Amino acid sequence: MKLHMVDVVGQYRKIKPEIDSAVQAVFESGNFILGKEVGEFECSVAGYLGVRYAVGCASGTDALQIAQMALEIGPGDEVITTPFSFVATTETIALLGAKPVYVDIDPQTFNIDPNRIEKAITKKTRAIIPVHLYGQPADMDAILDIAKRHNLRIIEDAAQAMGASYKKKKVCGIGDIGCISFFPSKNLGAFGDAGMVVSNDVELGERMRVISIHGSKTRYHHDMLGVNSRLDTLQAVILKVKLSHLDSWNKARRQFARVYDSMLKDLPVILPHVVGEGEHIFHQYTIRAPKRDKLAEHLKSKNIPHGIYYPIPLHLQKAFASAGSKQGDFPVTEKAAAEVLSLPMHTQLTPDQQSYIVGAIKQFYQQ
Ligand SMILES: *Cc1c(COP(=O)(O)O)cnc(C)c1O
Repeated sequence: MKLHMVDVVGQYRKIKPEIDSAVQAVFESGNFILGKEVGEFECSVAGYLGVRYAVGCASGTDALQIAQMALEIGPGDEVITTPFSFVATTETIALLGAKPVYVDIDPQTFNIDPNRIEKAITKKTRAIIPVHLYGQPADMDAILDIAKRHNLRIIEDAAQAMGASYKKKKVCGIGDIGCISFFPSKNLGAFGDAGMVVSNDVELGERMRVISIHGSKTRYHHDMLGVNSRLDTLQAVILKVKLSHLDSWNKARRQFARVYDSMLKDLPVILPHVVGEGEHIFHQYTIRAPKRDKLAEHLKSKNIPHGIYYPIPLHLQKAFASAGSKQGDFPVTEKAAAEVLSLPMHTQLTPDQQSYIVGAIKQFYQQ
């Protein structure tokens, strides 16, 4: 049995005619940068998310950087975030000269623990970047409440949560700015790098647009410091086709998650905890597993792919060592990093594949 962690090719084959005709039209047009197709896709995403403004950019990482540049976050500022995320969240804070300040996670959801945020706030704190990890929204009401009381901005890192909702509202439009990644393996994946920033604040949205094109509104007039981070026309047309399938794909992931839940329930692993307020879209199906590394080896020996997101918390990464964090500073995160394991999750999974995967896990714990 050939298994994939993410099956982007299988998904492409399902919608091949739609994608092929969309990209052919771009080839024939000769316009590859921005253009009306990008504008149309931005409008589609804004409509889908229920936000007022959307700006395509080159990656989810750029989205995080552009968002913080628009809020003028820089040297002397502190930004609160989670140590249990992909590096981009912290990297962009540090790149802009601000200081990432970590807050430990909730052990059940793996998302930033709002109960610990206030202790981390100082006079220098400007913003909070919650990450909707694995596709499950962070506890946004509590975060919004803290942000309001302390006059802080919220940037949602929704790289893993495109289409997820919190109290019936899509994530991205809950905080001041939402950041999306269209990296190929994400729930809405491009055929290359791509990203987007969205906001309900039109002025902020326009600022982000200007920043993304060299700080320029009119060509060769540069009003502010910017970057070169545009969404390719080709990616925009591909993503527009895929956006029309996103809800049904996310629904399929949720269904596969329920199948995993029922198959795994008698094993000594801890299943994903789904909170009532949010709609988890299972970018990853992540369990906590006793003897995790041994289990990972066992799966590998059976050609079953798996992922460990993330094996090293951000506060313990060499690149951020100068911040002075050490082992033991964020124990809930460190424990999660030692225990989590993500199983294959994508839109082309089959019940046979899921039984095979779970069979191998069962075998491991029975031996
Ligand atoms: C993927 C990801 C990013 C970065 O997105 P890219 O498009 O790869 O730059 C940022 N944050 C999180 C949580 C991610 O999973």
